[in-house]
Amino acid sequence: MVKNINGQIILLLIATITPNLYAESGPATTISADESLHKIVSDISPNRIEKDIEKLVSFGTRHTLSDTTSDTRGIGAARRWIKAEFDLISANCGGCLEVFYQSETIKGTKRIPKATEVVSVIAIQRGSTDPGRYVLMSGDIDSRVSDVMDYTSDAPGANDNASGVAGTLEVARVLSQYKFNGSIVYAALAGEEQGLFGGRILAEHAQKNNWRLKAVLNNDMIGNIEGVNGVINNTTARIFAEGTRQNETSKEANLRRFTGGEVDSPSRNLARYIDLMAHRYIPNLDTMVIYRLDRFRRGGHHRPFNDLGYPGIRIMETNENYNRQHQDLRVENGIEYGDTIDGVDFEYAAKLTSLNAVSLASMAWAPTPPSQVKIAGAVLPDTTLSWAAINKQQNPQLLGYKIYWRYTDAPQWQFSRFVGDVTEFTLENVVIDNYFFGVASVSKDGTESPVVFPGAAGDFGE
Ligand SMILES: [Zn+2]
Repeated sequence: MVKNINGQIILLLIATITPNLYAESGPATTISADESLHKIVSDISPNRIEKDIEKLVSFGTRHTLSDTTSDTRGIGAARRWIKAEFDLISANCGGCLEVFYQSETIKGTKRIPKATEVVSVIAIQRGSTDPGRYVLMSGDIDSRVSDVMDYTSDAPGANDNASGVAGTLEVARVLSQYKFNGSIVYAALAGEEQGLFGGRILAEHAQKNNWRLKAVLNNDMIGNIEGVNGVINNTTARIFAEGTRQNETSKEANLRRFTGGEVDSPSRNLARYIDLMAHRYIPNLDTMVIYRLDRFRRGGHHRPFNDLGYPGIRIMETNENYNRQHQDLRVENGIEYGDTIDGVDFEYAAKLTSLNAVSLASMAWAPTPPSQVKIAGAVLPDTTLSWAAINKQQNPQLLGYKIYWRYTDAPQWQFSRFVGDVTEFTLENVVIDNYFFGVASVSKDGTESPVVFPGAAGDFGE
């Protein structure tokens, strides 16, 4: 039926019939997903983010090796407060969050020589129809000063990375007021500065428990608008996304040489998805998708997830201020050093937080990304894509699939065609050699999954 109809006409039809379909199988709201996503943005509160950063800074230091017994100072007090906050958020949504500590004892490493419990705080908002599918937002609990082993000096870590934890708490507050098809994980990760431990522990937990983890949004420094170079800018953000996946086999790499896919890892297509969400929903925010794992030779907590093949990116401010990162609090030659709260712009942090919120919400409402995506069309005038049918028990909201394509040197998807609820479609007179292609799943409420590039290079998993 849909095959012969022009894609635009179908979309118009969807828009008209959305409210009814929504009431049947969408989230427990009566308005369309688009309206809900706009509402989510306006519900994110810069004031609450400010209060949470203030609280996290008040623990003096959150160094991984700092005191764990005091109720007012050190990493122990900080993580207990975060746990209590998640518990409170859960109480306000009828117990909709599964909140728990996740810990492992680390010892004998360069930055954690003596046995130390590295304790993250995790909250899971369980999806209603596809609870085994996850999207994840994270920030880091720990802080540091100039000497990475100094665990007693004041290390406020207001921007690095109380901003990321405050953003994660705020997204949990807002999204816990909605119901989603897929599960959402809110993670305050520990031990980042001492060697990315919390991320590694959670990534291994995901793998061990067969999580179908489709997106990791790692937030690390989302509140600074004044660069060390003097640039002041509150209208852009960066999304770091690795190229070819870390766990690609040499056989897969060899095939990729002939099919393309160097710039279409699932992490890259996750980044493109978030970039589009910024255009659609966040006023005065443009994102710069950076074709790199992270800043030059530097690290963050999305990496341990990428190591295991999970799609993951880092969201952060565009202009960093190195005088305010990893610095002892001091004044030198008239320059103030240290990561204090006066260096955080709460309105800006709220913008990046709301970008996380709409991206997570949209993916959790959308059907799971298509799997087993294949493409054919060599020496033909047409291009044919095929994929596995999505499980409709887990994804009752599925309306159908949309094929995307773009010029090979274009950063963002340019062309698309809704093709209905089929598992194969031929784009007539579109030559395979001249474009990159992908396919997304589309929900009755209008939300879509990220675009999946064919083959192992772009695979988001089952
Ligand atoms: Zn740091």
